[in-house]
Amino acid sequence: MRNKLKSLYELQEIDLRIDGLDSEKGQLLAESQALEAKLAEAREKIAARREEAEVIGDEKAALEASLAAENDNITRSESHQKEIKTQKEYQAVSKEISGAKKMIGELEEQILQKINALEEIAADIAKKESDLQELEENVATQQAEVQAKVDALEAGIATDVATREETIKGLPASVMKRYDRLRDQRRGVAVVEAKEGNCMGCNMHLPPQLYNTLFRADDVVTCPHCQRILIMKQEIE
Ligand SMILES: [Zn+2]
Repeated sequence: MRNKLKSLYELQEIDLRIDGLDSEKGQLLAESQALEAKLAEAREKIAARREEAEVIGDEKAALEASLAAENDNITRSESHQKEIKTQKEYQAVSKEISGAKKMIGELEEQILQKINALEEIAADIAKKESDLQELEENVATQQAEVQAKVDALEAGIATDVATREETIKGLPASVMKRYDRLRDQRRGVAVVEAKEGNCMGCNMHLPPQLYNTLFRADDVVTCPHCQRILIMKQEIE
């Protein structure tokens, strides 16, 4: 039993170490995801600006089509004007032409505004793309660092898992079952030390008669308060 208790205590230490490595690995993977999210966000912003530019480009094309139509109207009206006989008709066509010219001025102004907006967006996209490139390089470096850490952790976990396999070989199924259940219920800690009359798991005082069994180390003793498996380090070493 003494050896089994020793194995149980070692198993607990290995499992806590694996838990720690697993949680470190989880943090690193979350870090890696956050980096990817940052990249995705930057790319989305650029895509949104491109869409904006496309809409403005379409609006500009529509304005240019209107401008061309107005220019055609003027050309038509001017050639028509040459054949006009009456003063009244001549004035009506002149009015049409000046209306069209006014419209052309407005269209040209609006087209200019679209051109300015497109230039502004193009400059912003260029800036964002160069920022993105820099970010991509940084993220690649950071991801490589994260991956190296994850690899090291996984190697550590693999070693511990192998040691664990060896350690549990000598432990009876009933003890393992109890151990696993306690790990689930007690946030990963199933085996604790009894020290100076107290359970190191829940810090409650242990009844003196319990110590006799602990000293003998010939049975699995559990804390009456938190039900964790108790060991006395000097007794098992
Ligand atoms: Zn306890």
